[in-house]
Amino acid sequence: MTDPQNFIHNFIDEDLENGRFGRPICTRFPPEPNGYLHIGHAKAICLNFTTAEKYGGRCNLRFDDTNPVKEDTEYVDSIKEDVAWLGFHWDELRFASDYFGRMYESAEYLIEKGLAYVDEQSAEQISGSRGSLTEPGARSPWRDRPPGENLRLFRGMRDGNYADGAMVLRAKIDMASPNINMRDPVLYRIAHVSHHNTGDKWCVYPMYDYAHPIEDAAEGVTHSLCTMEFEDHRPLYDWVLQALDLPEPPRQIEFARLNLTHTLMSKRYLKKLVDDGAVEGWDDPRMPTIAGIRRRGYTPGAVRRFCDEIGVAKANSTVDIDFLEHCVREDLKEKTENRNVIFDPIKVVIANYPEGQTEEAVMENNREAPALGERRVPFSRELWIDGEDFMEEPPKKYFRLFIGNEVRFKGAYFVTAHEIVKDENGRITELRCTYDPATKSGSGFEGRKVKGTIHWVDAKTAVQITVREYGYLMEDDGEGGQRLAENSAAVKACYAEPSVAAAKPGERFQFFRHGYYIADAKQTDAADGGAKVFNQIVGLKSSWKAK
Ligand code: ATP
Ligand code: MG
Repeated sequence: MTDPQNFIHNFIDEDLENGRFGRPICTRFPPEPNGYLHIGHAKAICLNFTTAEKYGGRCNLRFDDTNPVKEDTEYVDSIKEDVAWLGFHWDELRFASDYFGRMYESAEYLIEKGLAYVDEQSAEQISGSRGSLTEPGARSPWRDRPPGENLRLFRGMRDGNYADGAMVLRAKIDMASPNINMRDPVLYRIAHVSHHNTGDKWCVYPMYDYAHPIEDAAEGVTHSLCTMEFEDHRPLYDWVLQALDLPEPPRQIEFARLNLTHTLMSKRYLKKLVDDGAVEGWDDPRMPTIAGIRRRGYTPGAVRRFCDEIGVAKANSTVDIDFLEHCVREDLKEKTENRNVIFDPIKVVIANYPEGQTEEAVMENNREAPALGERRVPFSRELWIDGEDFMEEPPKKYFRLFIGNEVRFKGAYFVTAHEIVKDENGRITELRCTYDPATKSGSGFEGRKVKGTIHWVDAKTAVQITVREYGYLMEDDGEGGQRLAENSAAVKACYAEPSVAAAKPGERFQFFRHGYYIADAKQTDAADGGAKVFNQIVGLKSSWKAK
């Protein structure tokens, strides 16, 4: 993997030169456990972990669980699984809720310093008096309460004496600040809800902007990397650390979110697809979630390579999904074995091949990776070939099978087609062919050459499998808008060479000339009438070109 020096590393180098921190470099990945991670999060994960690694520092996994209403342990478990699947090892596993006690005490400290007050206005009144970009906000009538009274009320909030929404704790900063985030932001709210970690211990919960710098400082984080939408929150992040007199405060640095064409990166939107039943679940192979792309058959190596190559910048941009697929293809290219699978079968009968006889044809597993060896597949009188490998009226330069033409059946013999058999609807049901026994592959035959080679599957021993092919999750309208794609999953029954029946869940192959496929990890054979289910990982060809 390359080791690109991005702008964040430049900042860190500067900090190291200036001796800004007397502690090792420390980063963290701070997901909110309110949904499954998506590939945008993978970018943040890679950035945090590889940065710590580059500087010989530490990286923590920290759940930002300050909003108990939306959070759930199902999400905590899936997030741990996803980070580990990407191949990263966190130093410490933390929860924002580990620090609820410290956050509460810090709030009392701010109150005593005259830097926070209890506001009894309603949520509507507070947001209505924040002003606008052109107008300053209005001060709350409770802004100048003496610290003793604030303390008494805040303790009452903690002790459950007041209903949700009755009052909040606000920072006392500046209602005329040009940055609206600095206009006395709310630090604590009342919520009589159980928390997945702390149960009913607390009925006041801290706001993200207040909690995050405290969590970072508590863990010795030096560089708190987050996405651009937090840029306007940085003054508040710094204010909290300064107001609490925390030494060597961590430094927040923002970077651009990853956006991808033909998909969507928002936990909220993805959750809606799951809740509405528009997809099979969080791990539907069309989903951009890590669970989805894992089931789809993408590899951690491909995702890391992708994150590495797209780099980190300040400017928002949208990456073409073709590039992600390109990375997947590159990663699989020399790692997967070929298998012959027929998608749109036509029966071939080789009239001069002895009935009842079977022999073995030797196939290379991967032309580009000889180390993957060879395999033997049965060949006999009746075979399946792909519909696209035969044409009744071939155009010029069509070198595959047509009446009167001879082609190589890969790994076996030269075969000539003589006659088409059709059913009463005019559909081709069978091709009558002959083979030349002198032409077996590997026999050294040099009598003549043929231009086309096609693949095939022995009919008697073929196994039926179910193949799921996928389109993109979203249609892009070309102007930045998107809508959910319809019919983006197609199911086909295909014929495969016998060894495919033994594929283990999660095993990947190239279905020769079709694309890369993975044995589905979830769908059992029994649920599909005995047929093994394969998910399309990615097709063979890319429309993506290096620019
Ligand atoms: P979403 O908008 O999908 O709900 P989020 O930002 O609310 O995402 P968090 O759980 O808060 O999700 O995110 C954890 C970390 O991942 C944050 O540091 C966030 O900035 C980062 N992150 C989230 N989405 C992206 C993305 N598309 N590209 C890069 N980083 C991201
Ligand atoms: Mg969030």
